[in-house]
Amino acid sequence: MKTATLNKGKESKYLNHYPLIDEEDIYAHDHLKEGDLVKLVTDQQQYIATGYVGRQHKGLGWVLSYDENAEINTSFFVHLFEKALEGREYYFNIEGTNAFRLFNAEGDGVGGLTIDNYDSHLLIQWYSKGIYKFRYNVLEAIKTVFNFTSIFEKMRFKDTSYAGGFVAGEAPEFPIIIEENFTFYNVDLNDGLMTGIFLDQKEVRKKLRDQFSENRHVLNLFSYTGAFSMIAAEHARSTTSVDLVNRSRALTEENFGLNGIDSKSQYIYVMDTFDFYNYATRQGYQYETIVIDPPSFARNKKKTFSVQKDYDSLIEGALNILSPEGTLLLCTNSSAFSLKAFKNVIKKSLSQSEVEYEINEVMGLPKDFKTHPHYKPSKYLKAIFVTIKH
Ligand code: SAH
Repeated sequence: MKTATLNKGKESKYLNHYPLIDEEDIYAHDHLKEGDLVKLVTDQQQYIATGYVGRQHKGLGWVLSYDENAEINTSFFVHLFEKALEGREYYFNIEGTNAFRLFNAEGDGVGGLTIDNYDSHLLIQWYSKGIYKFRYNVLEAIKTVFNFTSIFEKMRFKDTSYAGGFVAGEAPEFPIIIEENFTFYNVDLNDGLMTGIFLDQKEVRKKLRDQFSENRHVLNLFSYTGAFSMIAAEHARSTTSVDLVNRSRALTEENFGLNGIDSKSQYIYVMDTFDFYNYATRQGYQYETIVIDPPSFARNKKKTFSVQKDYDSLIEGALNILSPEGTLLLCTNSSAFSLKAFKNVIKKSLSQSEVEYEINEVMGLPKDFKTHPHYKPSKYLKAIFVTIKH
């Protein structure tokens, strides 16, 4: 096995089980190739951990074990998958939900690898070339531990011409229908990077339905397939979904159809969010709840959007069309945008607009998206309900 030697004085965080091997902490790494197993050692050559090389962001790779004798083989993954499965028993036994995460990367012991369950159709996501080198062992272990009808995979790293696809089992016809909190959604595991639903938002969606939709006009910005609109529509007076991409209209209509809601009774706009703000303001439209769940980055015509730079204008625009005492649901999934910084942007924008407000809920990832206690970026999701007081 190759050795990755830490620079002098860099060992303490790794001794405290920080899982990401930071490229900058390693003395020399030119000899390390994607998929290599490495012994992480101090500058005195003292063993700390065993990891693999899989470059992701600033990371050179991830720690897999603190046992010098550990062998990284099929049984190694079997053991971790069994542990992950035990932790998900709750999700297998609740009614009204059949899609959730089975294995969440570093939170479950292998950074760079996630496995989701969509009603017994599994989706593996590989986040580096390095982890993909373990494909054989990972697949064998999945087949040993999990029950499934089919397995699909997606490549979440650049530098590959293969985007992913069918792996094993009996391929279904897409879209398949999954259920979450008694609401139905179309899912396609074989179409680009997204699947139709972001499973990490399930508790936030439920909260929106249970506490912030009843009898309200709900606006859902960056609506994609309309997941927030679907769940809100059960109690809302109306929903309005806004997304830039043309395809979102049909996908949203189809999801309404699945839930027995006439899509003609709901509003769908294919529009840039900021253009919609201008349009709705001119029309005098008002909403009691506005959901803002943007991508971290987006390019549109000549404009680029980034959550950290532009969240303040998203909030300011929303305030113009929010009813008195209305609620904003503000989300970001950017791991680079900390909860503290996000809260600061919210506070600053709201106080500049001279409104009083109350923070109702600060939510994060659900339990199936198990996070690593010593690795903050794994808690990437932030969702804050704020009600404006006048
Ligand atoms: N909120 C969604 C997920 C959003 S994914 C959900 O809960 O499922 C991001 C979406 O933002 C994409 O569908 C993309 O088309 C859309 N988008 C990107 N830039 C946009 C813009 N300027 N205005 C409106 N939608 C935009």
